[in-house]
Amino acid sequence: AAKTAGRNRFERYHPRMAEVANERLAIEQGLLQAMLNGELSLHWQPQVSLDGRRVVGAEALLRWTSVQLGQVGPDRFIPVAEESGIIRSLGTWVLRQSLATWAEWCRAGLVQGRLAINVSALQLQDDTFIDVLARELKEAGLQPQDLEIEVTETALQRVPQVEQRLTRIADLGIQIALDDFGTGYSSLSMLKLLPLNRLKVDRAFVHDVVTTPSDQAIVRAIAAMADALGLELIAEGVEEEDQRQWLANLGFKEAQGWLFAKAMSGVDFMRWLADRDGTPGHADQGGA
Ligand code: C2E
Ligand code: MG
Ligand code: MG
Ligand code: MG
Repeated sequence: AAKTAGRNRFERYHPRMAEVANERLAIEQGLLQAMLNGELSLHWQPQVSLDGRRVVGAEALLRWTSVQLGQVGPDRFIPVAEESGIIRSLGTWVLRQSLATWAEWCRAGLVQGRLAINVSALQLQDDTFIDVLARELKEAGLQPQDLEIEVTETALQRVPQVEQRLTRIADLGIQIALDDFGTGYSSLSMLKLLPLNRLKVDRAFVHDVVTTPSDQAIVRAIAAMADALGLELIAEGVEEEDQRQWLANLGFKEAQGWLFAKAMSGVDFMRWLADRDGTPGHADQGGA
């Protein structure tokens, strides 16, 4: 009976569901080819000191230009990649590609600071993930401290033995940031237990922080929590000068957002860095 009911329900919503299922299938099949066809690339978004003077690192963000579907945003394809398990190979591609590129830029003296990459629950769950991390770092010739993995609160909830897994990663010397912070349900005890370096305040709270008391309260609470637990803070989605100012007044030291730079292709990122040369405060770059 349940089966019949299920089928009836399915048929009632058939047109819309079929559309969604088709798009999902097209994305899933497209992704399988994307790596082989060279349709994937990385964009780079600088992470800066809150005064905008120092680049402290960059986040690598996956881009997909599909032959069939055109430009597909990560908000559309990452969920499909996660559900289908394709994220495992995509994630390895991102890790290898971003480390190799970052290492090359470091050796050329073009960047310094940390490379941040997004890691999803399935990757963390994988027992070989830690070995892959260590191997890829070695292959690229980077120090573990150069790498920061960004994991969301929601992802962590889905990973069994998450504390042990993260501890092994932290023991390698890799930094760990909690991404989209404030949108999930991390308990204080969880935050205390995990070997985190940084909380990354979700852009949803930054957006109206200048005018909305409830958002202000949330950001203040997060900042107090970070302080109490000895965690670094970074704000994402900083678009306006008055947001920057508000965060600076609260004691934030780092940010990421369109006020400073959008995510850019590697070529544009290099150009952006070069254009900053000679601007005030940039002289302290490249001390190596
Ligand atoms: P995220 O990790 O929270 O990355 C930040 C997103 O906010 C990026 O979107 C970035 O372009 C966007 N952003 C940055 N500054 C601003 C701003 O000032 N205003 C606004 N409105 N947006 C800003 P993007 O590149 O579309 O990525 C979306 C999400 O897809 C990421 O969110 C991340 O969760 C996921 N993602 C991207 N690349 C990867 C990847 O390689 N692996 C995994 N697992 N997930 C990825
Ligand atoms: Mg991120
Ligand atoms: Mg984020
Ligand atoms: Mg986000």
